[in-house]
Amino acid sequence: MAKEYDVVILGGGTGGYVAAIRASQLGLKTAVVEKGKLGGTCLHAGCIPSKALLRSAEVYAQTKNGEAFGVIADGVRLDFAKVQARKAAIVEQLHKGVQHLMKKGKIDVYAGTGRLLGPSIFSPLPGTVSVEMNDGSENEMLVPKFVVIATGSRPRTLPGLEPDGEFVMTSDEALQMVTLPSSILIVGGGVIGMEWASMLNDFGVDVTVLEYADRILPTEDEDVSKEMEKLLRRRGVNIVTGARVLAETLEKGNGVTIQAEHQGERKTFAADKMLVSVGRQANIEGIGLENTDIVIEKGYIQTNEFGQTKEAHIYAIGDVIGGLQLAHVAAHEGIVAIEHLAGHNPAPIDYTMVPRCIYTRPEAAAVGLTEQEAKAKGYDVKVGKFPFKAIGKALVFGEAEGFVKLIADRNTDDLLGVHMVGPHVTDLISEAGLARVLDAAPWEIAHAIHPHPTLSEAMAEAALAVDGKAIHF
Ligand code: FAD
Ligand code: NAD
Repeated sequence: MAKEYDVVILGGGTGGYVAAIRASQLGLKTAVVEKGKLGGTCLHAGCIPSKALLRSAEVYAQTKNGEAFGVIADGVRLDFAKVQARKAAIVEQLHKGVQHLMKKGKIDVYAGTGRLLGPSIFSPLPGTVSVEMNDGSENEMLVPKFVVIATGSRPRTLPGLEPDGEFVMTSDEALQMVTLPSSILIVGGGVIGMEWASMLNDFGVDVTVLEYADRILPTEDEDVSKEMEKLLRRRGVNIVTGARVLAETLEKGNGVTIQAEHQGERKTFAADKMLVSVGRQANIEGIGLENTDIVIEKGYIQTNEFGQTKEAHIYAIGDVIGGLQLAHVAAHEGIVAIEHLAGHNPAPIDYTMVPRCIYTRPEAAAVGLTEQEAKAKGYDVKVGKFPFKAIGKALVFGEAEGFVKLIADRNTDDLLGVHMVGPHVTDLISEAGLARVLDAAPWEIAHAIHPHPTLSEAMAEAALAVDGKAIHF
């Protein structure tokens, strides 16, 4: 028998489960359909497991290099099975947490694959959602007033460089590695590529990054790309930018070899394994979009600023709509969509206020426009930059590389963008995000007294530097 709901959410990843919680808070009868595990990519194949591995890599590298702190640890060894077990335990703890939150919110969870059947005489818009149950039991039929599509994304592959279970991996397979390779070729120097380059280098793996663009992290501020490239090269990561990988030259056997065009020459690269990290593609297949009027553009579901698709009763959020494919974005899009369908008046997301974080060592983080974007938009910019080497706490930490860079409009003093490379900047960036939301000018950021000694002083100093008033540099 069909079951009626106010909202049915397809996909229980970060976007989907957060949307479900907000719907339940608003008193809506809510169901989530999840074919894999609640928590989705972020919890099981993304943010959390990758950061757990990164942390182990950081501890390993730090322990080996403790001498500078006067800490001599002889015979430091890596137990990679334990590294993986720690990762799995963190994921499982959070997975239980999400399951608990669904119960607490009285949200029905269907373990199966959801599909839109379209409207019929028995089921008005948006129509029935059928669920093919994972346990093989009879399909469930759900009749909702609204549907939220939150089916997420999966790794994009390159023809000829598909994962093969042995030599070529995407992040999905890399996260499950049982042993570490002694060397790796990483195709794509974006966020995943550079996080893995940093992590594997810390684990002692010989890393080469082949990036097509003329710089790594090509969507970030040029100064961030430059600094990160310099620091990772110094640690021994081989970074090749402007490299056109020739997939058809891939050879496997005793590891992998592949050719790439670089500076007008064909060069051969070899390693034990290859990681392909060239972006992600939306999960739009097999969910019944052909039974709707939903518009797809460049592989992503099109929505208005509230997540509403061309069909007013169907919303879409998270990675499946493209844009910034980040967990916190998916979650906020979920909240906006639910509040909108519930008849509230949510503010649409201003994507220039979304923090972007990269968990390399050192970390990078940004919010708002890059200097290049600001100039291209016609702003007369003023820039304040302050290095961590002039921050006492960074020296105490033994991590004094990098900087904080603020970009402001010379005419209005508006804060346009903040870019950071350095210790714990993924935590420091929230202040910049708040400043953007509150429309704080750089002088107002500096007016807020920053405690000493903290890493946050770099933000205050960079804000002062915008007007040439930095104290310590
Ligand atoms: P997903 O999390 O992909 O969830 C979609 C869910 O829908 C999945 O559980 C899937 O099983 C389910 N589903 C799909 N189709 C159906 C169907 N027909 N029926 C039922 N269920 C279905 N972002 C950050 O902000 N910070 C990070 O540090 C970070 N690190 C990352 C590291 C890696 C290696 C990767 C790959 C991604 C990382 N991301 C990070 C990105 C982040 O994981 C995604 O932006 C986020 O998971 C998107 O959430 P979502 O809900 O849109 O989709
Ligand atoms: P990405 O878009 O960040 O980077 C892909 C990189 O691959 C780009 O630099 C691109 O120029 C390069 N590239 C594309 N085709 C290539 C080719 N043929 N040869 C060589 N290089 C090529 O994608 P990603 O790193 O795969 O990450 C996917 C998504 O996951 C991103 O949207 C990201 O936001 C999200 N993610 C976020 C975090 C985080 O927030 N810390 C971490 C990991 C992943």
